[in-house]
Amino acid sequence: MKRIAIIGAGMSGLTVANQLKDIAKVELFEKSRGVSGRMSTRYAESYQFDHGAQDFTVRNEAFKSFLAPYIDAGILQEWKPKLMLLEKGQIAKERTWSEIHYVPVPKMNELCIAMAKEIDVHLNTEIVSIEKQNQHWSLLTKDKQEFGTYEWIINTTPAPQAEKLLPTSFAGYNHFKKCKMLGCYTLMLAFNQPWKWEWEAAIVKDSLISWMALNSNKPGRDNRQTLIVQTDNQWSEDHIDAATSDIQHLILNELNSLLSYDFSSSEYLTTHRWRYADTKQATGVDYHLDHDLKLGACGDWFIKGRIESAFLSGYKLANSLKQALS
Ligand SMILES: Cc1cc2nc3c(=O)[nH]c(=O)nc-3n(C[C@H](O)[C@H](O)[C@H](O)COP(=O)(O)OP(=O)(O)OC[C@H]3O[C@@H](n4cnc5c(N)ncnc54)[C@H](O)[C@@H]3O)c2cc1C
Repeated sequence: MKRIAIIGAGMSGLTVANQLKDIAKVELFEKSRGVSGRMSTRYAESYQFDHGAQDFTVRNEAFKSFLAPYIDAGILQEWKPKLMLLEKGQIAKERTWSEIHYVPVPKMNELCIAMAKEIDVHLNTEIVSIEKQNQHWSLLTKDKQEFGTYEWIINTTPAPQAEKLLPTSFAGYNHFKKCKMLGCYTLMLAFNQPWKWEWEAAIVKDSLISWMALNSNKPGRDNRQTLIVQTDNQWSEDHIDAATSDIQHLILNELNSLLSYDFSSSEYLTTHRWRYADTKQATGVDYHLDHDLKLGACGDWFIKGRIESAFLSGYKLANSLKQALS
């Protein structure tokens, strides 16, 4: 079987691996210590936070079919929080979702962990460059690990990271330049006090905060109270290189003022910076395969900053590659 290296073990990389695993020898390379990418779970002291993606919708039939066994197994469940729109800290209106919003159970990374079960994943392995010799690709890491050679490399990292890894001769290289991604900060809090607000999740307007959710309210989470607060993407981008301690201070002040409550003495408080959270400008195509170089690129950012888009980009790339390999 042909050897294929996939860089990045988020939803798109794992989708490519799952689609190709029966016809090729696929290996995933992930720089973090776990799979999931932006669908990760943050383990902090004894708490767990969905600090990236919050939930997702399913519109496409292929995505629906792919997820069906995970829904049957209880790994995906519907989340139905009491949802409000807040304006200047006041409830402007109650919102209801018109479609099902799923969350992995008991934590966000559970779906990607299940998808990685039969896949050969090299964790803690950051690929720093790729090289072609005699028609075959090799991967380079800082500590010069040896993995042998591959027929194809598929890159699934966000566009700015892909731009650094793939050669300018890659036929899809202009997509990296075209795509604009925006950051996000997530404040994670754990506290003892009873929850006294009418909402369990809130879309926030006119604020540097855009989203808040009672993390512990999601299905299957442990019942100690945890709150997630996420910042507006454009505000985050404008402050992307600021010290996270300064950012935490700003978010906390805003949260305290919005809810007229002092969260500063919460049991646990931390802030995470997502440098590439959402896509401001997508590429206009779903993925790119360069059949001459035997290089491919996919990821949510080709389409939209959504889990379903990450799946579709990976799924469509894999289907096209299957035809090329058969
Ligand atoms: C704060 C936040 C909130 C979000 N909320 C939602 C939401 O509510 N609903 C929704 O549908 N979507 C949401 N999203 C978007 C969703 O998380 C993404 O669309 C999806 O997870 C992207 O998957 P991906 O596989 O394309 O990319 P990623 O998940 O980013 O995977 C890429 C992987 O590549 C790895 N990597 C990068 N460089 C290298 C390298 N050099 N070597 C090896 N590995 C490397 C990374 O560590 C990462 O694991 C949110 C994202 C964020 C950050």
